[in-house]
Amino acid sequence: MPPTELLAPRDQRELVAALARTTDASRLVAGATDWMLGRRAGGNPPDLLIDLSHLHGFRAVGCADRRIRVGALSTCSQLQCDPVLATHARCLAQAAARVGSVQIRNVATIGGNVANASPCADLVTALVALEATATVIDGAGRATERPIAQLFASAGGSALRRDEAILEFAFAGAHPDRRSGFAKLGVRSSVAVARLNAALVVDLDPDGATIAAARLAIGSLAPAAFLAGEVAAPLVGTRIDAACPEEFAHRCLRLVDERIPERSSRAYKRLAIRGLAADLWSAAGAGTP
Ligand SMILES: Cc1cc2nc3c(=O)[nH]c(=O)nc-3n(C[C@H](O)[C@H](O)[C@H](O)COP(=O)(O)OP(=O)(O)OC[C@H]3O[C@@H](n4cnc5c(N)ncnc54)[C@H](O)[C@@H]3O)c2cc1C
Repeated sequence: MPPTELLAPRDQRELVAALARTTDASRLVAGATDWMLGRRAGGNPPDLLIDLSHLHGFRAVGCADRRIRVGALSTCSQLQCDPVLATHARCLAQAAARVGSVQIRNVATIGGNVANASPCADLVTALVALEATATVIDGAGRATERPIAQLFASAGGSALRRDEAILEFAFAGAHPDRRSGFAKLGVRSSVAVARLNAALVVDLDPDGATIAAARLAIGSLAPAAFLAGEVAAPLVGTRIDAACPEEFAHRCLRLVDERIPERSSRAYKRLAIRGLAADLWSAAGAGTP
């Protein structure tokens, strides 16, 4: 078997040149936390490995044209204490803080979390709630901006082509009074992938208390996280400083019944999602004046 060739592009031009050389046997890698698990499982080594970790230009969070931009190579450790996210997209910072252990978060990237396309990926759920888009570049140098949901194949897994890489994510960040939060349930406290996760984003009226718009994303109930409009919409017009509405928790429970009626984990998830709804409500800074 020929040895794996390694390319480590340092900018977009070098990345495009590397992507142009990919075959079906080639692979991309960023923090390698998921990638190494796949390698340990066996299979042939790739003919070409593109190491994205030197693309330093895509490792930052910024704000331009009323949009927040998050480089795909940003690590979870970076995102969990980023001041822009702390102000405008707390759910994404909180999701990053809940990924794995410190060692994992120091190298795991947001691009890898999305491209790995796990149904329980924590950052994906936050990005879905934020209605994020992703900028993707291919081996011909074509950059396209796509809604996050289009990065996942309908039957699960990634919809990215082998010669495509995610460069950055973007979402609206201009609402003057936005609150958001993330909550998850896992089997262990420190390095557990989620059995259920959720992100809530609410925009408040100028009175600072009445909900003007709400979005809820849920992970682990489908091949990819999705927006649960029927659960979030009735929150509009209610007050953020009230206790977690009983009906909100109940609508979450109904969602479990509808989405996984046959799955063996349904009984556990029915019970757990009520607690998750309450955690989510307080993670979003709701229930307090
Ligand atoms: C012990 C452990 C605990 C974990 N806990 C959690 C958890 O609590 N929550 C959670 O969500 N995840 C968890 N994970 C999964 C993992 O850490 C995350 O999915 C991580 O964000 C992946 O990022 P990475 O940079 O390491 O990706 P890599 O492993 O480098 O890549 C993953 C996949 O994405 C592709 N890829 C990477 N970057 C790009 C890009 N920019 N464009 C296109 N394709 C790309 C690679 O080709 C590969 O197929 C855990 C993993 C481990 C090993």
